[in-house]
Amino acid sequence: MKITKLSTYRVAPRWMFLKIETDAGICGWGEPVIEGRARTVEAAVHEFSHLLVGQDPRRINDLWQTMYRGGFYRGGAILMSAIAGIDQALWDIKGKALGVPVYELLGGLVRDRMKMYSWVGGDRPGEIVAGMRKLREIGIDTFKMNGTEELGLIDSARKVDAAIERIAEIRTAFGYEIEFGIDFHGRVAAPMAKPLLRELEPYRPLFVEEPVLAEQYEVYRRLADMTSIPLAAGERMYSRFEFKHVFEQGGLAIVQPDLSHAGGITECVKIAAMAEAYDVGLAPHCPLGPVALASCLQVDFVSHNAVLQEQSMGIHYNQGAELLDYVRNRDDFRIVDGYMSPPRLPGLGVDVDEEAVIAASAHAPDWHNPLWRHADGSVAEW
Ligand SMILES: [Mg+2]
Repeated sequence: MKITKLSTYRVAPRWMFLKIETDAGICGWGEPVIEGRARTVEAAVHEFSHLLVGQDPRRINDLWQTMYRGGFYRGGAILMSAIAGIDQALWDIKGKALGVPVYELLGGLVRDRMKMYSWVGGDRPGEIVAGMRKLREIGIDTFKMNGTEELGLIDSARKVDAAIERIAEIRTAFGYEIEFGIDFHGRVAAPMAKPLLRELEPYRPLFVEEPVLAEQYEVYRRLADMTSIPLAAGERMYSRFEFKHVFEQGGLAIVQPDLSHAGGITECVKIAAMAEAYDVGLAPHCPLGPVALASCLQVDFVSHNAVLQEQSMGIHYNQGAELLDYVRNRDDFRIVDGYMSPPRLPGLGVDVDEEAVIAASAHAPDWHNPLWRHADGSVAEW
C-alpha cells in the first residue's frame, strides 16, 4: 500500500481535517490544527508531503521518526500539530486496512467506558450554575470552567474574591453531587497562583489546570507542595521531550497532552506510559473536533492512568459548527451517564461526512483568539 495524496480542509468553528488517500482505496482522516494558526499548520502538513507520498502508510513508527528527526529542526506547536494530524490519519488507515479499531492495535481495552467532562461558563466565566443545571439534564456530572478573567501579575483581593465566590456558588447549588476542574488558562502568574489555590482548597475541585503557564513549569512543584488540589497541565507541551521535565521535577497530578498538538497517537501513548510510571493521571486536552476526540479515546482506552476526557460539545468556541456536524456515526459518540463507549468502527472510529467537510471548507472562518489587555493597556494572557 502506498500513500497517494494529502488533502486539507479548514472548517468552522476553528478546525482542520486532513484526508490521506492510498492506492488501495483506503483513506484515513486526521485533525492537524493549532487553534488560531490553522493556515500555518496546513502549510506544515503539505511541507511534510514529500516524505509521505509514495510511502507505505502502515510503517507509522518510521514515518513519525522521519517527520520528527528528518528535518533537523523539530518540536513546537506548529510542527508537532502537523505531525499529530498526519499520525492520526495513518492510524486510521492502518486500522481500516486490518479491520479493527486502533485500540486493538495498541493492546486492547483497559476499561469498558471513559469518564467525560463538559465545559461551562465561557471565556469570561459566568452563568456557571445555570450551565451546569442544563448539562445535568443530559447526564453530565463532571465539568470544567475558567477560573478567572484577566489577572495581573499582582492583582486585587477583589478579583480573588470574585473567583472564589463563583466556585462557592457551585458547591452551594450542587454540594458534592457534581465534580469540576478549574482552568487558570495561563492567566495566573506565580504570585497570584498561591492565594487562589489556598482559597479554592476548601471547595475541593478535581484539579486546577495550568496554575501557571507551562513555560514556568518549575513553579508547579512549589505550588503542589503548598496545596492539596491536584495540579494539571500539558496542552501547551508538545512531546515526550517536554513532558519529561515535569515528570522529573514532580508537581503535576494530571498531564493533558493534546492528541492534535503533541505528535498524535504514536507520541501520546508514550507520554501516557511515562505518566503512569510517575503515578500521574492522563486527561487528554480536546476542545477540538471529532477526529481529535476519537484519537484521544483510542489512547484513553489503552491507558490505565487515563482519568478524564475533555470534549467540545457545547463549548463556547463552537460558533458555526458542533462536534458531530461532520460525523455520520453520531450514535457512537453518545455520552451515557457521563461516560463514552469505545469507538466501534475500524480505524479511529469516525465515519467522516466528507461532503459536509468539503461544503464547510468553502467558507471557513479564520478564527483567532481574542487579544485581551489589562486596564493599563498592557497585553493580558487570554
Ligand atoms: Mg486549558
